[in-house]
Amino acid sequence: MVGMGPVDGFPADPVRPVPPDEILVGGRWRRGGGDPLVTRDPADGRVLAEIHATGAGDVDEAVCRGHEAVRLTRDALPHERARWLTAIAALIERDAEGLARLQTADTGKSIGETRALVASAAGTFRYFAGVAETLEGALTPPRGPYLTMSTHEPIGVVGAITPWNSPIASDAQKIAPALAAGNAVLLKPAEWTPLVALALGRLVCEAGLPEGLLSVLPGPGPVTGDAIVRHPGVGKVSFTGGTATGRAIGAIAARKIMPVSLELGGKSPTIVLPDADLDLAVAGILFGIFSSSGQSCVAGSRVLLPSAMYDEVLGRLVAGAEKLRVGPGDDPSTQVAPLVTAEHRDRVAAMVDRARADGARVRCGGAPLPGPGNFYPPTILDGLPADSAACQEEIFGPVLVALPYTGEEELVTLANATVYGLACGIWTRDYRAAVRLARRVEAGTVWINTYKQFSVSTPFGGEKESGLGREKGREGVLAYTRQKSLYWGLDERPNPWAGPV
Ligand code: NDP
Repeated sequence: MVGMGPVDGFPADPVRPVPPDEILVGGRWRRGGGDPLVTRDPADGRVLAEIHATGAGDVDEAVCRGHEAVRLTRDALPHERARWLTAIAALIERDAEGLARLQTADTGKSIGETRALVASAAGTFRYFAGVAETLEGALTPPRGPYLTMSTHEPIGVVGAITPWNSPIASDAQKIAPALAAGNAVLLKPAEWTPLVALALGRLVCEAGLPEGLLSVLPGPGPVTGDAIVRHPGVGKVSFTGGTATGRAIGAIAARKIMPVSLELGGKSPTIVLPDADLDLAVAGILFGIFSSSGQSCVAGSRVLLPSAMYDEVLGRLVAGAEKLRVGPGDDPSTQVAPLVTAEHRDRVAAMVDRARADGARVRCGGAPLPGPGNFYPPTILDGLPADSAACQEEIFGPVLVALPYTGEEELVTLANATVYGLACGIWTRDYRAAVRLARRVEAGTVWINTYKQFSVSTPFGGEKESGLGREKGREGVLAYTRQKSLYWGLDERPNPWAGPV
């Protein structure tokens, strides 16, 4: 067991930062009051770090210091807030390679993906700096002798709870707009992958963000996360994670009458129309499900194929999947990296075994790879009814289910036949068919002839049980504000209602 402090394999070198063993409570680094929390490298199982997790007293203190910081920074001008965010972005860019390597070690993701996530996090801070500086209130049309204004004010202290699959990007997606709007943020990263959030906390402090505006509070969700959600001093929670957890957080928020944003799970369809460019479609579908080893909320985990072309397209998908290189995340040639933990790999394996018992044909993959590390190969299943568990439940691993369809009505019914509504892909040369389908599919994001592309300036979120609210875009900041209306009286005569006074 590695003790507290610098960790084997992470020499104090500028491109491989030492994972800190302290947490950030209201602007101060210290050992948390909770139980020790161990994080392991998914490629070989070695212990990366042991952190003192957050205790209940730490949450309380972070909330108090957060309120104090919001009070002290209330008059900061928009361009000053923008400067803080720009400084954070510059430091992320300075340490990009170290952050990417740290995230690869912590999550197992391939180095190409973690480099892209780090770049996206820096871009997110820059984008929201721009929004902070340019966000306007409104002078609304008056209906009487007064001027009417609508302004946006910070909520106060907000909770940001993130999952393990893309930590630095999902952390930035919450912290940057919340700070742009003038709030203090309590960030609770996932227990399995706390290291990058803590490294980000170090950079935020170095960037000169006023003390107390950010706390980084790793710890178990049902303990630390729950304490943040229930805390009476927390005025909003933005959560990304599974639908069951989101539902529980939403129920607590309802009791508190507290706004909540929920980015939840998905079972997204990728649709091939008969006229699709198959080279484009096959490559895009493989990327959509097998990049990030399928551990992506928007993974295109169901592929809907025209019956007449079913065998041809499925054959190409299987051939493509079998060629993908499975390996450790720090090997630049790896396309499918290990799953985040052994526990999660076993869960994926159990879901594939269940599909087999339900009658699935396993076209490729289908069992964990032997040896150390949490490796599971690209897997394609078919022959299942659309209401089977593998077609309905999020597997969150490299598992694609293929289903045939005949005609547009059956296609739309199949595409919408889950509780989720996060994303959809459509592969076609017919733009009218694409527009028609995009309108009929229940999904927050529809990609046409592309998949799994993201822009920080484009709102993102889910329909149905995939979530509530939107992140990114200018709306991303508004989600962390309260709207206030001001009436400025212009009538110089006293209100006649009271008579002479
Ligand atoms: P979880 O819902 O288990 O966890 C997400 C976060 O919530 C973690 O930080 C977790 O802490 C915390 N948490 C767990 N229980 C509670 C609780 N009772 N109160 C407060 N916080 C809690 O999801 P996973 O970590 O398994 O992440 C995968 C899920 O996230 C998938 O369903 C995926 O689709 C979804 N996701 C959605 C995205 C979107 O934008 N729509 C993007 C990425 C992922 P801890 O892990 O420490 O226990």
